[in-house]
Amino acid sequence: MDPVTTPFTLDREQRAWCAELRALAAEKLRPLADEGAPGGTGSVNRPLVAALGELGLLARVVPATGPVSAMDLCLLRESLAQECTEAETALALQGLGAHPLLRWGTAGQRARWLPDVAAGRIVTAFALSEPEAGSDAASLRLRADPAPAPGPGGGPGPGSGPGSGWRLTGEKCWISNAPEADLYTVFARTGPAPGASGITAFLVPGDRPGLTGSPLEMLSPHPVGTLTFDGVPVGPDDVIGEVGGGFTVAMRTLDLFRPSVGAFAVGMARAALRAAVAHAGERHAFGGPLKDLQAVSHQLAEMATRTEAAALLVLAAAASYDAGEPGIARRSAMAKLFATETAQYVVDAAVQIHGARALRRGHLLEHLYREVRAPRVYEGATEVQRAIIAKELYR
Ligand SMILES: Cc1cc2nc3c(=O)[nH]c(=O)nc-3n(C[C@H](O)[C@H](O)[C@H](O)COP(=O)(O)OP(=O)(O)OC[C@H]3O[C@@H](n4cnc5c(N)ncnc54)[C@H](O)[C@@H]3O)c2cc1C
Repeated sequence: MDPVTTPFTLDREQRAWCAELRALAAEKLRPLADEGAPGGTGSVNRPLVAALGELGLLARVVPATGPVSAMDLCLLRESLAQECTEAETALALQGLGAHPLLRWGTAGQRARWLPDVAAGRIVTAFALSEPEAGSDAASLRLRADPAPAPGPGGGPGPGSGPGSGWRLTGEKCWISNAPEADLYTVFARTGPAPGASGITAFLVPGDRPGLTGSPLEMLSPHPVGTLTFDGVPVGPDDVIGEVGGGFTVAMRTLDLFRPSVGAFAVGMARAALRAAVAHAGERHAFGGPLKDLQAVSHQLAEMATRTEAAALLVLAAAASYDAGEPGIARRSAMAKLFATETAQYVVDAAVQIHGARALRRGHLLEHLYREVRAPRVYEGATEVQRAIIAKELYR
């Protein structure tokens, strides 16, 4: 018989879906991740993205109709992360890059792009950070200068203005899936207003003239790169939402995705804990299994307790988002903060319990040790989450 369903447990259908996702990840996605990206390390694994589309998983984060369910997103990320972090991240990046379009795009923009995103035929990216604007995203500098209005015969005319579009000039940095993505959500400064109010979100196809970029070699295994905009043309049809409303688009997108970064972290913590429990049960030292050493068993108990607490915060934030409850910025920040810090602790402790073998290239924990670090920095560093929570306490 199923345990009683409370707001703090998953129902039978959700548990079955999570089991199915883990099996899909292990059997269908893990082999594609192991084969590596056809373009080599650090490039986008397009067969993996296509498989996520064919399995119908991308359609859950980029649905044809209706809003994205934060709970679905979290269950997907937590389940996939337990078996294949590469698939988890590829799925999350498609969702992150396309979410502004999904939620604020026009019917025409959505019809043009979203079916291809959901099918995994095109790869998306979310381009907010810049070399001089990371945590302080509202200080971004990418310029959207009004383009000259066309004169008679299509040549440059005397006037300029939003009706004729803009030219993007500047740089983005640390952008996941750059420079290979087919479609970018780009945040640029359209007005002289300082801070958040002069920022607009644009849809920029990867083949627009003037757009170039380079891959960056990073500790985390997914592709990350820079983008350079040299007068990239964008028109009114490329604006996502309102001119000047881009910062809200970015922040509300992060409200949805932050708990799910926590879910990714919980998935990694669960995988590390499972490995540590198995190893401590099998490895013998001082006349018995490691688990019989109290120092080890108490460490396992602490890892399990913190992982459970992180999972609950993530589920609570997701449920609260889906219910449209107030205080989502605070709850999202708490979930991301606690889960990513917990996963770092759990993975590190699991490495310790394994000893040298965990540090060997190719070991699950060696992989998780590299994966677990970046989520404490991206989508708002731990300290930024604390700043959000503290601000909300005085609101
Ligand atoms: C693997 C990876 C993938 C990424 N993918 C993307 C992406 O797809 N799109 C995108 O736009 N960006 C992406 N980023 C960039 C990421 O969002 C930024 O790195 C992050 O916002 C932090 O900015 P920064 O690195 O410039 O650090 P800084 O802003 O320079 O901050 C450095 C450190 O200062 C401290 N700090 C900063 N602000 C505060 C504060 N208010 N209070 C207390 N301490 C503070 C924190 O410890 C912080 O880590 C990615 C980063 C990584 C590592």
